[in-house]
Amino acid sequence: MSIQLGCIADDYTGASDLANMLRRNGLRTVQTIGVPRPGLDLPEVDAVVVSLKSRSIEAARAVELSLEAEAWLRERGAEHVLFKVCSTFDSTDAGNIGPVTDALRARAGCGAVLVNPAFPETGRSVFQGNLFVNGVPLNESPLKDHPLNPMRDANLVRVLQRQSASGVGLVPYAVVEQGVAAVRAALADASARGEGSVIADAVAARHLDVLGEAALADPLSTGASGLGAGIARALVARGPQRTVSKSPADVGMSGQGSVAAGSRAAILAGSCSAATRRQIAVAEAAGIPIHRLDVSRLLEGGASLVVAEALAWAHARLDAGPVLIASSDTPDAVAAMQRSHGGAAAGHVVEQALADIAEALVAASVRRLVVAGGETSGAVVDRLGLEAFLIGREIAPGVPALRTAGAHHAGLAVALKSGNFGGDDFFAEALSMLNQTETD
Ligand code: ADP
Repeated sequence: MSIQLGCIADDYTGASDLANMLRRNGLRTVQTIGVPRPGLDLPEVDAVVVSLKSRSIEAARAVELSLEAEAWLRERGAEHVLFKVCSTFDSTDAGNIGPVTDALRARAGCGAVLVNPAFPETGRSVFQGNLFVNGVPLNESPLKDHPLNPMRDANLVRVLQRQSASGVGLVPYAVVEQGVAAVRAALADASARGEGSVIADAVAARHLDVLGEAALADPLSTGASGLGAGIARALVARGPQRTVSKSPADVGMSGQGSVAAGSRAAILAGSCSAATRRQIAVAEAAGIPIHRLDVSRLLEGGASLVVAEALAWAHARLDAGPVLIASSDTPDAVAAMQRSHGGAAAGHVVEQALADIAEALVAASVRRLVVAGGETSGAVVDRLGLEAFLIGREIAPGVPALRTAGAHHAGLAVALKSGNFGGDDFFAEALSMLNQTETD
């Protein structure tokens, strides 16, 4: 397998978002969970997104993991590596965007690295080096109060400079407007001045196309899903000699293990968001059988019994159609559980119970699995030991159909939805799309 684009994402959900964006723009994409083991066998794809959890860890460890990921990607032919960061540039003065970019640049032996977290489609734009979130400067947006990475400065040149060993420059809007050649010239000037990276402006999707094309001339760039989309479009535009295809139908997941149509299916909901609770209500009204976990008993030490009951309930119904098992509850009920058991502790116990259930259901031949909840999804993915996902069609904005690859449970059809994603009929749509993936 030889890939064209390698990506290193600093968190799991950001990785999925990028992988989905690459797929949407015509690249056959795989997302791996962590740095892949050397022997991981992957199908022929154009792009691989290695998902790390390196956003808020110690900088030295983030560098180490990112370099491991880079080595794996380059070995598989990646000519360009995108270090994927959050579109709100989540980081602290201690790192990790600067140190990781510096280390990847040293490894690649290249000049100034183009850095751009903009994603105008989702309200993130960069102008004169300042990041705006839905029109508000970053330091006035809700990100100023982020529990892990409070963003108190909107000027990314300054932010990145505080994290970087070498100088940080700016490629302003006026230059980006002039096109690829002008951006390339600005990058060459920055390199000549000894700058290690430059923040590039982008306030519209067309700027991401310019930056994507400009970035591809170098082995490395740093940015969010928007830059990833620009890079994907630039690769696809290079023509038929490339293996990429513009048609989503041509980049399906056929041949990557088959999920028998009508195979056993289960939905697990650990998200308590308003959207998920609506989706559960709609599924119930449509006749999908629902089992609600007794969370209070679960938290009082009865986990194994609660899990066993849920499994007995599911086993009796799986042959007749999809089943839904949910811990989801109203904000008041959740707050009460958190008061009596502690928020993090309660969350962890519920996540582990749902992971237990997922493991047993997959062992019982469930081949289509929908999980609602970001943390819940992480717990299920880790428990099943999943190594990689092939990215399929989009079920809802930001939620692709996935097919597992690797040694553990290859060929499962999976959808992982974080809380607020998806329309009211998401569960039925997901089950139907997961049924179709083999024929994409
Ligand atoms: P979302 O994507 O909506 O934030 P997550 O899965 O990330 O969903 O987070 C939901 C958290 O709430 C998880 O830690 C989950 O275990 C926990 N949880 C789920 N149901 C309950 C409940 N009934 N009471 C308390 N906590 C719950």
